[in-house]
Amino acid sequence: MNVYCQMAGYHQGEDEPLELLCMNPECISMNKVLNCVSCIEENHIGHQVIHYKKFINLLQKQGNSLLNEIEFRFQESTVQNDLVCKLKNLIKQLTELSDIVNDAIHKQKDMLERKLQYYECMYFC
Ligand SMILES: [Zn+2]
Ligand SMILES: [Zn+2]
Repeated sequence: MNVYCQMAGYHQGEDEPLELLCMNPECISMNKVLNCVSCIEENHIGHQVIHYKKFINLLQKQGNSLLNEIEFRFQESTVQNDLVCKLKNLIKQLTELSDIVNDAIHKQKDMLERKLQYYECMYFC
């Protein structure tokens, strides 16, 4: 993932990619899930922060063990609902994650396109 932080100052530079996910419910609702190291230091002290690779890893493990469990136990009608529920939750989490990442990529793209328009205008208008 090569999306870099758009904040000024210490946030800029090639070594500040947006790779850290803040799991704080308030940050999730304010769309401040994706952060660079400086963002975390400034605004997310004490929040639950996880590297996106680790998070994807966790979700994959969760998904695999859930699928295993379903294959073994789906005959038991008492656990069917529970397992289906867990599976739905995991899918929801994955959808949210891809929304967050897509959103950050779109913002980055918009910002670059605006800069491009600005430079093009300076040369050709
Ligand atoms: Zn930042
Ligand atoms: Zn936070």
